[in-house]
Parts: sequence; structure tokens; C-alpha cells
Amino acid sequence: MNRLVPITSKEDIPLEYRETPVGHLLEYHNLERDLDSCTSAELLIGMCMDNRKHLHIPENFAFIIRTGGANLRYSEFKVSYAISVGGIRSIALIGHTQCGMVNLIARKDQFVQGLVKGAGWQEQSAEEHFSHYAPMFEIGNEIDFVLSEVKRLRLRYPKILIAPLMYRVEDNRLYLVQESAGGAG
Ligand SMILES: [Zn+2]
Repeated sequence: MNRLVPITSKEDIPLEYRETPVGHLLEYHNLERDLDSCTSAELLIGMCMDNRKHLHIPENFAFIIRTGGANLRYSEFKVSYAISVGGIRSIALIGHTQCGMVNLIARKDQFVQGLVKGAGWQEQSAEEHFSHYAPMFEIGNEIDFVLSEVKRLRLRYPKILIAPLMYRVEDNRLYLVQESAGGAG
């Protein structure tokens, strides 16, 4: 977790993000900045579907795409839409600690039995379902994944400002993810 940069004052926000929608997100959520009135969306937020997270942001401030693990690989049309039609020029990709999309294989039995008992699936169908989709949705490690996903999105949308963030469910705060100077940026 030493790659997480705490944001406890405006000066902690790197200049590249300060006075951008990403910086404003950090100010709203972490620094109790007064909620501005927004007439249109300024930011696209990608975040996990996990129930333990709530963002303190103004109404109308952001489009939000929620997926398992903040994985936007299968949401590209919606990202493109938020940029082209929605007019946003900044994306905050927010991973979080204790994400359920890490080490999915450890929950295979729970997944299969949950579908059988809870949803009325046949066991074989549930197993095939898991085997087919788990590799697509597994994220490996929360921090590494958010960095690699940001890297991918920057290549795909080169004029858009894209920031890797983490939400710690332990304290409900947002952190910037440090991008190493050695390349993984
Ligand atoms: Zn998650």
C-alpha cells in the first residue's frame, strides 16, 4: 500500500491534476470542498460495483461506470459515449482495497453453489459460467490493475486526462496511485 499517495490538503494534489475535474473530485471527497452546482458532467468516474463505497460529489458532476474491479475493458462504448456526446475530458479510474475481483478462483465453489442454491442454476451451467468469465474479470492485484488499465486507456484516448486512484474501504478516503518513474506510468 506504500504506492498510495494520501490527499489531505490541496497541496498534496499534483499540479497535473490540480484545478482539473480529477483534482476537484479529490477536494470534494477528501477535503470537504463545498459542492459546486454543476450543470453538465465534467468527469467520467470508473469504479467497482462493490457496495462499500460512496463518493461525496455534487449532482451532475460525473458520469459513473461501475463494474467489477473498475475494469473498463468491456465498457468501451460507454467510455467513448461519455467523451464524444457527454463532453468529458477527464477520467478518474478508482480501484479499491479488498476488491472481490482479486483471486476469483478462491471463490469458485461459493460462486457455483450460490448460483445453484440462490438462483436455481444447474451445477454444470454454473461451473461453465464461472470458468468462461472469471479469467475476463480477474484483476490480479488492485493497484497494479488500476495502473495497467489507466495505461491502456491513455493509449486509447490520448487527449483525455486519466488518473489512477484508489478508494481505501478502511477509511473511505481516496488516494492517488503513485506512478513509478521507471516506466509503469
Ligand atoms: Zn471491487
